[in-house]
Amino acid sequence: MSYTVAGAIHMHSDYSHDGLDSLETLRDACIARNIRWVGMTDHAEDLDPDVFEEFKEHCADLSDDALTLIPGLEYRFAGFRGVHLFAVDLREWIQPRTFEDFFEQTRTTAGFTVLAHPVLCRYQVPPAVLDHIDGIEIWNTNYNTRYLADPRAIALYHEVHSRRPEVVATVGLDQHDSRNDRGVRTLIAESDLANPAEALKAGRFSTVGRSAAFDSRATISPSAMRQLRLKRSALDVVNKVHDRIMFALRRAGVDP
Ligand SMILES: [Zn+2]
Ligand SMILES: [Zn+2]
Repeated sequence: MSYTVAGAIHMHSDYSHDGLDSLETLRDACIARNIRWVGMTDHAEDLDPDVFEEFKEHCADLSDDALTLIPGLEYRFAGFRGVHLFAVDLREWIQPRTFEDFFEQTRTTAGFTVLAHPVLCRYQVPPAVLDHIDGIEIWNTNYNTRYLADPRAIALYHEVHSRRPEVVATVGLDQHDSRNDRGVRTLIAESDLANPAEALKAGRFSTVGRSAAFDSRATISPSAMRQLRLKRSALDVVNKVHDRIMFALRRAGVDP
């Protein structure tokens, strides 16, 4: 199958406290970038049942042949810092307190679920999540940079995939400001445009970013994986030095 229709997953609008773009702005930016569908993932804690209904209608009002905005929310869980799960194609308001709640409730209300940015919880993901999640984000351009995928997330994904062949590997923009396009895309077939979430769950997609492209099972040769690990550690060192310089400049009263 040829995957040619570009979409973006993991997108925040100003329905999130830290999102800058109205859905209108987001729509214009996506159309300009040839993105045809978007898996929205606004922060669940910033909405309530009424606002969620408004959000859903707003997404529907702004969807047409040029672009589909698919409603979805990203959830946090008390006691599990950094473990964020999002539900794409969320049709009803849900308020899960535990991972068990999340999977029980999304089973009938959502099209597709993803473990976001495993680096944020240092890859310490509870089995309750790994046993039920539909997808694992192997490249989050907010946390992993636009330049490189996350080799440890890929390794985690492959470990889960060896037990659960149905689990898929996704890439996420985690975009909060449309002026900054970090460039990863998810490609589906034209025939799946009517229901991208279903195609995602079924693994009918491929992903692409600046430095790499993947299939939905994050197939990577051992030598490419070694290269990625090496580049990743080099980039992480550069980032750490950069952060320290910025910190020192700010302490010295310089606005970098
Ligand atoms: Zn998150
Ligand atoms: Zn996010």
